[in-house]
Amino acid sequence: MVYRAAENRYEKMLYRRVGQSGLKLSALSLGLWHNFGDVDRLANQSDLLHYAFDHGITCFDIANNYGPSAGSAEENFGKIFHDDFKPYRDEMIITSKAGFYMWPGPYGEWGSRKNIIASCNQSLKRTGLDYFDIFYSHRPDPETPFEETALALDQIVKSGKALYIGISNYDAEQTQAITTIFNDLKTPYIIHQVQYNMFERTPENGLFDVLTAEHKGATVYSPLAQGLLTDRYLNGIPEDSRANRQDSPFLSVEDVDQRLAQIKQLNQIAESRGQSLAEMSLAWDLRNEVVASVIIGASRVSQLEDNLQVLDHLDFSDSELAQIDQITK
Ligand code: NDP
Repeated sequence: MVYRAAENRYEKMLYRRVGQSGLKLSALSLGLWHNFGDVDRLANQSDLLHYAFDHGITCFDIANNYGPSAGSAEENFGKIFHDDFKPYRDEMIITSKAGFYMWPGPYGEWGSRKNIIASCNQSLKRTGLDYFDIFYSHRPDPETPFEETALALDQIVKSGKALYIGISNYDAEQTQAITTIFNDLKTPYIIHQVQYNMFERTPENGLFDVLTAEHKGATVYSPLAQGLLTDRYLNGIPEDSRANRQDSPFLSVEDVDQRLAQIKQLNQIAESRGQSLAEMSLAWDLRNEVVASVIIGASRVSQLEDNLQVLDHLDFSDSELAQIDQITK
């Protein structure tokens, strides 16, 4: 059946400006790090993308190495895009990244001109897209001068392969250094992708200040701490959860055990607000004005349905924020 996007898709979503750029992102973006590999059901991937777009999510975040296997998330996205989303290309922000390990030998990762440009070309091929809306340096390279990485990204824009540039996982000092180079080059660098949630607050210690001073925006990843900041683990470890998945070494059963007491206390605050813990966690990220969008992951449509309800209740009282700080800081 031919997919037709819901007519009312723009009615409820908020669109937030990225720094002082002309670009707005949907307050929620969908990330394809997990659940879009060749180990995952394509029909479920398609359902997730349709549901997201039908509810105003315009931003889809990928990277060269997402899978598993590495590259398969781009390929799967490409398949679904070409079947269903081609007529909507100009309504979508599709992003990819280079920097983490992708192929063997000295050019398969980090921030050299060689890696960044070859990797972007590969990602375009895998997705079948003509260009990315935002292309990211996925991590700073301690051995390559920032001038080289910045010039490679600048060339990606000048050659029409991306519209905007972003960086990810750079600390405050590294962000300031590469921003100065982008400013000199007049590169349309507008956004930083960083982990930020109630348990992970590092960007509050300098990075957000640099972004604000430089009029850039943030888009934050793992806003639910990979599922910890939801009701997923309140009653044990579900078999199909990320903490239990063998192909996902990034969240362990031990991580859950370590955080469970805090998760239960946070869940009580969420209940008193009439929200799920996932919704409260996303609202907490979005209370910060520098955050243009939170990039959520989802293994099923019901999670998207829950997460989208954050839009109904975004504000916090001072006392709620103080209680959250007390539990998590
Ligand atoms: P989240 O913190 O949103 O975690 C997503 C997981 O939480 C889901 O897979 C699901 O886990 C669980 N979940 C989500 N919603 C609910 C809900 N309502 N109720 C219960 N459980 C829920 O984000 P991710 O860690 O997945 O990261 C999001 C995106 O950020 C990635 O896809 C990627 O695009 C980007 N990212 C970027 C990085 C970078 O270095 N730049 C690094 C990491 C991520 P389950 O599978 O158990 O159902």
